[in-house]
Amino acid sequence: MPELPEVETVRRGLEKKLNNFIIKKVEVCRDSTVAFPKKKEEFIKGLRNSLIHRWDRRGKYLIAQLKEIQNENPRFPLENYQNNGFLVIHLRMTGYFKFINISTPPCKHTRIRFFGKNNNELRYIDVRSFGQMWWIKQGLSPNRIIKGLGSLGPEPFSKDFDTKYLKKVISKRTKSIKAILLDQTIVAGIGNIYADESLYSAGISPFREAQTIKKNELIKLKESIVTILKKSIGSGGTTFSDFRDLEGENGNFGLQTNVYRRTGKECRKCGNLIVRQKITGRSTHWCPKCQK
Ligand SMILES: [Zn+2]
Repeated sequence: MPELPEVETVRRGLEKKLNNFIIKKVEVCRDSTVAFPKKKEEFIKGLRNSLIHRWDRRGKYLIAQLKEIQNENPRFPLENYQNNGFLVIHLRMTGYFKFINISTPPCKHTRIRFFGKNNNELRYIDVRSFGQMWWIKQGLSPNRIIKGLGSLGPEPFSKDFDTKYLKKVISKRTKSIKAILLDQTIVAGIGNIYADESLYSAGISPFREAQTIKKNELIKLKESIVTILKKSIGSGGTTFSDFRDLEGENGNFGLQTNVYRRTGKECRKCGNLIVRQKITGRSTHWCPKCQK
């Protein structure tokens, strides 16, 4: 599943490619991809003549801010146009966007097509079809309609995510620290890859009961999370998730991992073999010698 760095990479790509993209027509190829409004006709009609003004990200959600365009040639400044709510996207396991300049027939996994002027198209493709989209019309609150969005914990790069906060959320928690990091209501955007990599970097066993982690370890953990996420954004995500950028590339330039999917390989610090074990149903990769 794409995690924060991959979703942020997609966001930056969309921002670059879709500068002032006006949705002229929407085609829904699979109804279940539209999570809201309930009627897909409302989704299609509501998005027509929307200019994508801005792309934001919150956790693993992509959020497009829309403006309503009345005529063909938008007069600037854009601020004069009425807001038309938000288009929110969660890619889940295998969702990705492709920006197409010259019309090509869609593949069978195409779920939603957004057509612009001059036949260009933003195509949403999703093999396993867990991804979802919402059109939240002006006046409604995305946080209220999308439960997962409204309940998100702080962004790892925000000032709210500090050692004091971490100390508070782990206190009296008997869950493993790995499970805590995966909990989106505690911190937004971290999934399996970055939880394993951050814990390795901080030298903390993923099996540790959260409440037993000391302050100096929390400082290290927080720093590891921020450093690894930033590094990964800089390199366009990891090679391991099924995520693709707007050109449909699966990024072979991605971040090199230390433990994730390195089961049986030598630890880069101590030479011991990396182990894989399950924690609450999730595969966890770690070095039992370096992580205590
Ligand atoms: Zn090691």
